Amino acid sequence: MSIPAAVRKRRDELVELIEQARTQYYSHDKPTISDADYDKYFAELVDIEAKHPELVSADSPTQSVGGEATEEFGEFEHPTKMWSLDNVFDDSELDAWFARVGNHNFLCELKIDGLAINAVYRNGELETIATRGSGSVGENVTASLEYLTCIPRKLKAVKGTKFPELLEVRGEVYFSLAEFDQINLEVTATGRTAFANPRNAAAGTLRQRIDNRLEAVAEAKKRAEGKSADSKQAASLAKHVDELERAKSALSRLGLIVHGIGAHEGLEIPAQSHAYELLKSWGLPTSDRVKVVKSVKEVKEYIKHHGEHRHDIEHDIDGVVIKIDSLNEQQELGYTARAPRWAIAFKYPPTVVRTRLLDIGVQVGRTGRITPRAAVEPVLVAGSTVSFATLHNGYEVKRKGVLLGDMIFLRKAGDVIPEILGPVVELRDGSEREFKMPTKCPECGSKLATEKEDDKDLRCLNTRSCPAQLRGRLEHLGSRSVLDIEGLGEKAARALLEEKVISDEGDLFALTAEDLQRSDFFVKGANRELAENAKLLLNQLELAKTKPLWRFICALSMRHIGPPTAQALTREFNSLDEIAKAPAEQLARVEGIGQTIADSISQWFAEPWHLDIIKKWKDSGVVLQQAQVESGPMPLAGLTIVVTGTLNDFTRDGAAEEITSRGGKASGSVSKNTDFVVVGPGAGSKEAKAIELGRPILDEAGFKILLADGPDAAKAHLGLN
Ligand SMILES: [Zn+2]
Repeated sequence: MSIPAAVRKRRDELVELIEQARTQYYSHDKPTISDADYDKYFAELVDIEAKHPELVSADSPTQSVGGEATEEFGEFEHPTKMWSLDNVFDDSELDAWFARVGNHNFLCELKIDGLAINAVYRNGELETIATRGSGSVGENVTASLEYLTCIPRKLKAVKGTKFPELLEVRGEVYFSLAEFDQINLEVTATGRTAFANPRNAAAGTLRQRIDNRLEAVAEAKKRAEGKSADSKQAASLAKHVDELERAKSALSRLGLIVHGIGAHEGLEIPAQSHAYELLKSWGLPTSDRVKVVKSVKEVKEYIKHHGEHRHDIEHDIDGVVIKIDSLNEQQELGYTARAPRWAIAFKYPPTVVRTRLLDIGVQVGRTGRITPRAAVEPVLVAGSTVSFATLHNGYEVKRKGVLLGDMIFLRKAGDVIPEILGPVVELRDGSEREFKMPTKCPECGSKLATEKEDDKDLRCLNTRSCPAQLRGRLEHLGSRSVLDIEGLGEKAARALLEEKVISDEGDLFALTAEDLQRSDFFVKGANRELAENAKLLLNQLELAKTKPLWRFICALSMRHIGPPTAQALTREFNSLDEIAKAPAEQLARVEGIGQTIADSISQWFAEPWHLDIIKKWKDSGVVLQQAQVESGPMPLAGLTIVVTGTLNDFTRDGAAEEITSRGGKASGSVSKNTDFVVVGPGAGSKEAKAIELGRPILDEAGFKILLADGPDAAKAHLGLN
């Protein structure tokens, strides 16, 4: 059967695209296609080759690891080959792998988004560091060794073990997410292309010729100290020193996690997990998230768990690596041309994609803050289509160095709003335009200003009647974590204000059926009968009037005041009037409130129209006082309780309310002073911390016992005391 011409053509296209991308990755460290596209092309090529094996040639990208060593660096021939891994992208592909390899003990570990290196130790002393390169030959980056604090120069001697004469340790150098963001800001601030991911940043950092930089500084110094030296030479020296310092600093911020062993003459190692233990005992950094499991089911649980928690980890991961633990069994399965048969990488959906920045608009928040919002060409990332990304403020647009029309890298991590990492400078064609922050509020036309001179945020100062701010405050007031008023969402807020049913939030609790009848949004039919949403809203408003004081404090939209601070205030004060009268010094002593917030609260109460809102609320029957719980029993007095994860019968705020109304303290972080940690599904680091510190952990049932019968009953439930 002959191969259709279209298939041949596509195959050639894919080979070219992949080769191009690989050159970009490994030689310039600035990819112009995203990881997702690369993986897609690669998978498509593998698919074509599987259907038409006669198309597979020795030079196909599927037959080599990719990333030839570049000329700039000395070459290093790895004593034993560094393999690449085959990828799978879903359960069915993973199942196919399991079917091929059969039953084993599997070692699961996180696939860190970093750069693979080979560290060669001779008799326990580090001799060479090289990148993977082609797998057989890598780049010798030993010159940077002095500044790489993450790699031990000498292994730690352990009684009873002897260092092999030759030992190859394989690992991943990487930047934590915090360092990655920092490095990217340093890069975009100088007008260069952002690193699309931590791996590129790590590669770019490790593959700097630090020896050349040292030389450049030495030469510049000689010139600057020479007889004919002038200010130009001094400036040149300063520039070279600055570059060197930056390179050194970046190198020192790299981390390392080891994930393999190459040559190890004279060592008897039965399993991969055993190798990790040995390397750890010698002082090499291993991951404490490695797990050996006995079944396919457990492997899948590991994949699922870390897929859900990938954004809680301090570094980026792009998947999970599964290895057969026994080294004998590994050898039996052996290798294909490019990858071991005994290991597979399960890739998670990518979090970084490339798309085009179409426009930047601005939004006005409920406190008047102006936020640029980027409109991007819609793109699928991490399971959802993204059309907008945040840019925080005008200063941020400058820092990220993006122009309208730029191709950009965009990252979406978990539920947070997608963010722009930076532009792909190489892809500009000159048609891109600079974004200018507006000088007037797009909603009310007021002149925009910063509040203080060194503020980065521009604001619309027309707090009282800017429609955007009014709408924002109403919506906030109705939200779940504030007064939780169903029926008061964005659309309702807009209708109430635009149809002049209310003039501001002060009128809200005096709303009547007749008022709502005036609005098209709240009526139905030709007779303008009150619609369901109107009845719901009126009902909810009535219920809200007696809600706890802290919720009303939040509802006032004072700056810096969220549920925890509002709750802290209600532990010290019994009514809104008391808070209004309290001097700033007294407010500043409340937990979580410093001088700045205290001053801002005092200023808020000094504004007459703010006091009008409170007066109108009171006139409408809103309580604005603590419920008289003091007379009731306080079974949780003196106890600090942390709630984490999702509970069935309580919202997070609801749980906190139950605790505080019984005299307890609801805290957000686990410490040795925490009395109980209530854990629901989805709990993350707080549960781990509780275990680490040995604090009592309650499930939801235990929490209910604690609320009903107090701490002793809860402890008995746990089998303590
Ligand atoms: Zn405005």
